[in-house]
Amino acid sequence: MKKMLVLVSIIVLSLMTACGNSEGASGGEGKKSVGIAMPTKSSERWVKDGENMAAEFEELGYKVDLQYAEDVVENQISQIENMITKGVDILVIASIDGEALTDVLNQAKNQEIPVIAYDRLIMNSDHVSYYATFDNFQVGVQQGEYIEKELGLKDGKGPFNIELFAGSPDDNNAYFFWDGAMSILQPYIDKGQLVVQSGQTKFEQAATLRWSGSKAQERMDNILSAHYSGKQLDVIYSPFDGISRGVISSLKAVGYGSGNKPMPIVTGQDAELASIKSIIAGEQTQTIFKDTRSLAEKAVQMADAVLKGEEPEVNDKETYDNGSKVVPAYLLEPIPVDIDNYKEVLVESGYYTEDQLK
Ligand code: BGC
Repeated sequence: MKKMLVLVSIIVLSLMTACGNSEGASGGEGKKSVGIAMPTKSSERWVKDGENMAAEFEELGYKVDLQYAEDVVENQISQIENMITKGVDILVIASIDGEALTDVLNQAKNQEIPVIAYDRLIMNSDHVSYYATFDNFQVGVQQGEYIEKELGLKDGKGPFNIELFAGSPDDNNAYFFWDGAMSILQPYIDKGQLVVQSGQTKFEQAATLRWSGSKAQERMDNILSAHYSGKQLDVIYSPFDGISRGVISSLKAVGYGSGNKPMPIVTGQDAELASIKSIIAGEQTQTIFKDTRSLAEKAVQMADAVLKGEEPEVNDKETYDNGSKVVPAYLLEPIPVDIDNYKEVLVESGYYTEDQLK
């Protein structure tokens, strides 16, 4: 099967070259080339990440082959295989399933193509040179602290009903967000100030494959009908805006956000446009802004340094063990956002315009 794929790739490549279209390949005018493999266009953040990186690499004189795999693991693997066949000089990868790339990274290793993990750690490979990301544990801490502050948990208030959502179990980040959030929330669950009526308190029970909003919506529907008749749900811990919006749809369908059923506090992550609008509309409560412009810039600097034989700047050499090695990383700072600071953080920084938020 793999041989077939390589053969097909070679034929496609020869045809493209014969037609004078060598986009994304090295050689030609002697420019170095970068293969960027992104997970999906269905979440806006990855679109921005890809566009920002492509623009910055191009500005530095690189050719760019930017591919999205629509959350299909096999697609991402064959996209990366194609990039290797084309002979890109470096790969920047935001994985779909962090555990599924060991073989394809071996191919990159054989061709001496360095790999930078973008935002999500690639697991079980010694061929990951560097990792550009945010402080993922801190993301969870900020989400947990928001709930703690809004509910007055430190002052002993409660009990409040909470339900917990986690990210995709094949994404290493999901565990960091969860562990960060639980480092704040678990003591309140233990003391009874936070009550999980569904009893679903384990990561595996709360996990949402591929971060799917519709899967989260379905799980919320089930929890509401099984555990909340005659009870008010006060807070949802959600790690990602897409999950938050799925959950909010489910809540609205049973009357939350109207009459005497106030919308619970709902956290999120990524400051996606639809979620900022939802915050303005009083539905979602909070999100975490991770400036994809800065992350793209970091990853581009890393790749550029590697290709020039220099040492990229890192600020963490301990946290990200991928099972084969501890990957040197640069961690950026996430910023919590809600109705009180979205203008300052998102509009004044030029991330969104006022008009986009209308
Ligand atoms: C990213 C988050 C994002 C999630 C879903 C994670 O790996 O770090 O920013 O919300 O994937 O796309």
